[in-house]
Amino acid sequence: MCCSHNIEERSLESAQSAEKFDMDLIKGMKFFDPHVHMTSRTTDDYQAMADAGIVALIEPSFWLGQPRTGVDSFKDYYSSLVGWERFRSSQFGIKHYCTIGLNSREANNESLAEQVMEMLPLFMYKDGVVGIGEIGFDDQTAAEEKYYRLQLELAKEAGLPVQIHTPHRDKKRGTQRSMDIAVEHGLNPYMVIVDHNNEETVKEVLDRGFWAAFTIYPFTKMGNQRMVEITKQYGPERIMVNSAADWGISDPLAVPKTAALMKLNGISLADIELVTYRNAITAFAQSGQINEADFTTTIDQSAKFEGNSILRGGQQPRIDKSSIIIS
Ligand SMILES: [Zn+2]
Repeated sequence: MCCSHNIEERSLESAQSAEKFDMDLIKGMKFFDPHVHMTSRTTDDYQAMADAGIVALIEPSFWLGQPRTGVDSFKDYYSSLVGWERFRSSQFGIKHYCTIGLNSREANNESLAEQVMEMLPLFMYKDGVVGIGEIGFDDQTAAEEKYYRLQLELAKEAGLPVQIHTPHRDKKRGTQRSMDIAVEHGLNPYMVIVDHNNEETVKEVLDRGFWAAFTIYPFTKMGNQRMVEITKQYGPERIMVNSAADWGISDPLAVPKTAALMKLNGISLADIELVTYRNAITAFAQSGQINEADFTTTIDQSAKFEGNSILRGGQQPRIDKSSIIIS
């Protein structure tokens, strides 16, 4: 009794003040972040994610912050998503999946887009590729629409789920258009994950039978207090939370932090598990590529990928990261 009383008191305090993230709140829970750009993140991020209970993630193909100038840069990027980055993730015990696609921004460079489209089939059937993504609209141009449609056809042909990036500007219309076009191409909404939702889009996305993903991203897309309210209002069905952490100011712990905040706000553990773990697996496992048994990997930081390990210049594998001594 005394203990539960203490937890309640502490919970109340945490909810009221912008308190430090208390890892004890999520102890023993496991998480799946279905949208995070690890290529842009450090080994510290991987370590923190593993410590917070993230056991698996999906890295969608995206824009790298500046436009690529040739098709070979795309080729090397896709190769790293199915190769080196997956290996790097495994070194922290996190199972890495990816989605392959031509992002909406670079769809506007049509001569390059044509070459990328030709290359996509070489990567989309590889091991660990759980969908075509992230594709869709940015500025909602004609070129974006053209390559979105072509990639929907690729997904349909391959029987892969689709991960849709919805635009920041004119989001509601862009989201509706993305769904209309997917339906027009004969995709089952249950195979389509519509990402970067907010209060304005969620109802229609769910009503039409699509998956609704939410990106908890500081200052812009969604805060996790709003996410708590959305989960209370709509329930956990077909809803999933991600960090979309990338090269911008973002938070790779957004999923476990949101789970902690949900717990403090009285959302049931079963519902938290659905939106921070299970639903993403259900949606993307339709690719036939996700097996939960693979999540428990034994870590050997001296392992090598094509002759390279994550250890530089004779470093020893990390053993006690809480030690103040760095040797
Ligand atoms: Zn993204």
